[in-house]
Amino acid sequence: MEINLLVLIYLIGSVTFIVGLKMLSNPASARKGNLVAAGGMFAAILGTIFLYENEGQKLGNYPWIFAALLIGTVVGTLMAKKVQMTAMPEMVSLFNGMGGACAALISVIEFNHLLHGASDFSALDGTKLLIILLGLIIGAVSFSGSMIAWGKLNGKIKDFAFGGQHIINQVILLLNVVIAAYIITVRPEQTHVLFYVIVALSILYGIFFVLPIGGADMPVVISLLNSFTGVAAACGGFLYGNKVMLTGGILVGAAGTLLTILMCKAMNRSLLNVLIGSFGGNKASTAGAGVGVSGSYKEVTLSDAAVVMSYANKVMIVPGYGLAVAQAQHVCHELEKALEAKGVEVKYAIHPVAGRMPGHMNVLLAEADVNYEKLLEMELANEEFKNTDVVLILGANDVVNPAAKSDPASPIYGMPILEVEEAKHVIVNKRSMKPGYAGIENQLFFQPKTSMLFGDAKKALQDLLAEVRSI
Ligand code: NDP
Repeated sequence: MEINLLVLIYLIGSVTFIVGLKMLSNPASARKGNLVAAGGMFAAILGTIFLYENEGQKLGNYPWIFAALLIGTVVGTLMAKKVQMTAMPEMVSLFNGMGGACAALISVIEFNHLLHGASDFSALDGTKLLIILLGLIIGAVSFSGSMIAWGKLNGKIKDFAFGGQHIINQVILLLNVVIAAYIITVRPEQTHVLFYVIVALSILYGIFFVLPIGGADMPVVISLLNSFTGVAAACGGFLYGNKVMLTGGILVGAAGTLLTILMCKAMNRSLLNVLIGSFGGNKASTAGAGVGVSGSYKEVTLSDAAVVMSYANKVMIVPGYGLAVAQAQHVCHELEKALEAKGVEVKYAIHPVAGRMPGHMNVLLAEADVNYEKLLEMELANEEFKNTDVVLILGANDVVNPAAKSDPASPIYGMPILEVEEAKHVIVNKRSMKPGYAGIENQLFFQPKTSMLFGDAKKALQDLLAEVRSI
C-alpha cells in the first residue's frame, strides 16, 4: 500500500494540535504544548508548500510564499516579544482579525475560481457555494469585529452606540442570510455583484456588532470572534479537502466557544448580557450600585502590615488586575520567598476571571517563576481561607466583592468570588477607593477585619518586602 507522505504529515499535524491543546490546560506543560502544536503547524505548512499537488501541478510561486512567510514571521516574533502582559488581549484580537481576513480571502478567491470554471451560473456547485459564503460571512465579521476590538482595547476607538443599533444589526445579518440564500438557490445574473454586497455587509456587521460593547468586555468578545475565525478556517479546510486545516479550524472554533461560555459563567452573566453590554460598558450607570456600602475604612502602615504577615502561619495572596498593570509579579514572588524564609506558608488564590483575560494571573505569576503548585483555584482557595491568618489582596476588587453573594441589586450578584472575609485579617493594596472593572463599591474595604494599604502595587510591595526583611 502506498503511503501518501502529505496525508501522514497532516495526520501528525492534527494530532499535535490536539495534544498541544491538552497540554495548554496545565501551567507546567503549557509552554511545551504551544511548541508541540506550533511544530505540527510548521510541518503542515512545509508539507503543503512542497508536497501538495493538484492535477500533477505543485504550488509554485515560491518567492511570493517565502517572502510572505518571512515578513509574517519577523513581524509576529517582534510583536510577541515586545507585548506587555496587559496588552495581550489586544494582540490576540489583532492576530485573530488577520485569521478572519485570511478565511474571507480564501472564500473570495475560491468564488472567482468557481465562477470562472463554470459555463454559467446555474452550473455552480451548490455545496461549494454554501461553504464559500459561510466562510466569507463568518471570516469577514471576525476580521472587522476583531479590528474594532483591537482599537477599543488600545484606546483608539471609543464605545459607540445609538438607539436601535441592535435592531439594525439584526437587519444587516438577516439581509446577508437572505442574499446568500438567494445566490445559492436562484443563481441570478448579478451573483458576482451580490457576492461583494455580502462582503460589505459582513464587514459592516462586524463593526456594528462590536462597537457598542463595553471596552472591558472585549476579552469575552475576542474569544467569541476567535471561535468565528476557527469556523471560517474550517470552511477553508472543507473547500480544499485539507484535513489539517479542517481539524485546526474545528479545534479553534470549539475552544473559543468553550472559553466564551466559561468566561461568562465565571462572571455569572449570559453571553447576551455581555453582547448587549450591561457592565464594563456603561460604568456611569452602575457606579455606586450595591446596597449598604458605607462606613469608614482603616489604613495599615507598611511596618504593621509587615509584622502581621511575618508572624502569620499562613498568608494567602490574591492577585488582580492592578498587579498586572503595576507589573508587580516579580517583587510579589520575592515577598513570598522572604515570608517563607520566616516559616510562613504562602499560597495564591486565583479567581478564574481575575485580571482582563482568561488565565491572566497564572501566566503573570508563571512569568515570575512562582511555583504553580502554590496557585489555588477558587474552590480550593475558598476552603482554605478559614485557616488563613492574612489575606493580601494586590490590585483585585470585583473578584473579592462580597456583594456578589449578599446583594441581589448588585450587577455582579451571583458571580462566584474568593471568600477572603473568612480569613483572620485582610490587607488590601490598591491606589485609592475607586471601584474596579464593574464600577461598583466594595463593602469588603469597610469591614472591621480589613485594612487598606494604599499605593501602586509594585512600589507598595517593594517597600513591604524591605520591611519584612528588616524584621
Ligand atoms: P478589578 O478591575 O475589579 O480591580 C482592579 C483594581 O486594581 C482596581 O480597583 C484598581 O483600584 C486597582 N489598581 C489598578 N492599578 C493599580 C496599581 N498600579 N496598583 C495597585 N492597584 C491598582 O480587577 P479584578 O482582577 O478584581 O477583577 C477582574 C474584573 O475583570 C472582573 O470584574 C471580571 O469580570 C472582569 N473581566 C475579566 C476577564 C478575564 O478573562 N479575566 C474578562 C473580562 C472581564 P485603584 O484604581 O484604586 O488602584
